[in-house]
Amino acid sequence: MKQNDVVLRTENLRAHYILDVPGGQKVVRAVDGVDMQIRKNEIYGIAGESGCGKTTLMKTLYAAIARPLRLVEGGVYYTKDGKEFDVYALNKRELRKLRWQYMAYVPQGAMSIFNPVKKIKETYKDFLSSHLSGRTADEMFETAKEHIDKLGLPVSILEAYPHQLSGGMRQRVAIALAALGRPSVIFADEPTTALDVVVQRGVVQLLKDIQEQLHNTIIMVTHDMGIHANVTDRLAIMYAGRIIEEADTVEIFKNPLHPYTQFLINSLPQFGDTGERVSAPGQPPSLADVPQGCAFHPRCPMAMPICREQRPEFVTRGEHRVACWLAAEGGKADAAHS
Ligand code: SF4
Repeated sequence: MKQNDVVLRTENLRAHYILDVPGGQKVVRAVDGVDMQIRKNEIYGIAGESGCGKTTLMKTLYAAIARPLRLVEGGVYYTKDGKEFDVYALNKRELRKLRWQYMAYVPQGAMSIFNPVKKIKETYKDFLSSHLSGRTADEMFETAKEHIDKLGLPVSILEAYPHQLSGGMRQRVAIALAALGRPSVIFADEPTTALDVVVQRGVVQLLKDIQEQLHNTIIMVTHDMGIHANVTDRLAIMYAGRIIEEADTVEIFKNPLHPYTQFLINSLPQFGDTGERVSAPGQPPSLADVPQGCAFHPRCPMAMPICREQRPEFVTRGEHRVACWLAAEGGKADAAHS
């Protein structure tokens, strides 16, 4: 990967929830040593079961952490106008300037970004007046209309209150709002959760349209591997606070190397295949008590003695990387069929 292709990189990123409990502190290692490089002009997916740290990773990348979550090690580096900067070295004013115009965040459950007693057009106006100053109210309304129309959404939604829109339309409006400042990086946290399959398709298409129009980077978290298969260019699999596999999405689906990834893919329903789908046995570990060695070893049918003792580092094959002792030894797991 060329360095100037990188829009965001992390180095040994660790963000932990540090909780005061009777008699001491409890440490929840939600992000625990993440190295990643995300490129310009791509949709990058982060997958994994609930509770693996995906949302915390997104918040940490967006520099939106608040106690008890703390950045305990490492950094998050963005590249803007050819210069790299550490987002955690910025002051509040600088960070605020960056938000929405350079990086935008669509949280889980779009309702939270709308004021329930204001029409959608008022939310657009509030956004435009605080982030893109110097426009009259009429100009702002015209900008909102043009933007909505360009993204293929009905302009009439501007006159609606949030509760008058369906869940899917609200989600699309929230994503459209995030794109209004033409940000270089958009974070979308579980954008299709709780939507039915048909509505999901509309949300997914909107994300793709925005990326094609802006040629920007979209970082999307979802546990739904089917959505990743349809939308993302590259995919990272997260387990117990770490990325454990990363590659082009097509490559991951064709040739998953980590046993956990194999279970995620094999649990997907497949057209015409009536065989039983196999999910990973057991439950994900508590992030307050991650197993020693490979965190997946208690659930892994391929586990070897070394897996219980030493954490595997990444093995790289071209642009495909995986943290598993089997790959380190040159083998390929087939956990879902073992
Ligand atoms: Fe399984 Fe060992 Fe690979 Fe972990 S390192 S996924 S326990 S084979």
